[in-house]
Amino acid sequence: MSQMTTGVTDLDEGYVLTALDRCDSCGAQAYIRVTMASGELLFCAHHGAQFKDKLSATALHWHDESSRLLAEAAR
Ligand SMILES: [Zn+2]
Repeated sequence: MSQMTTGVTDLDEGYVLTALDRCDSCGAQAYIRVTMASGELLFCAHHGAQFKDKLSATALHWHDESSRLLAEAAR
């Protein structure tokens, strides 16, 4: 009953970026997937942060797994 409903982002819960997903800017492993009206963009944590200000206004969805970097670094 008290669960947060986030609309379209619910469909995204199971999506995990893999090592095959590469940043569109530098080719590093992507941790951020941006859904735009024109298609999808992939960014590493660095470029995701860099483009977030520009793109977040027009992005339909911002999928950010950069927190996994911290978890993987701790292994
Ligand atoms: Zn990058």
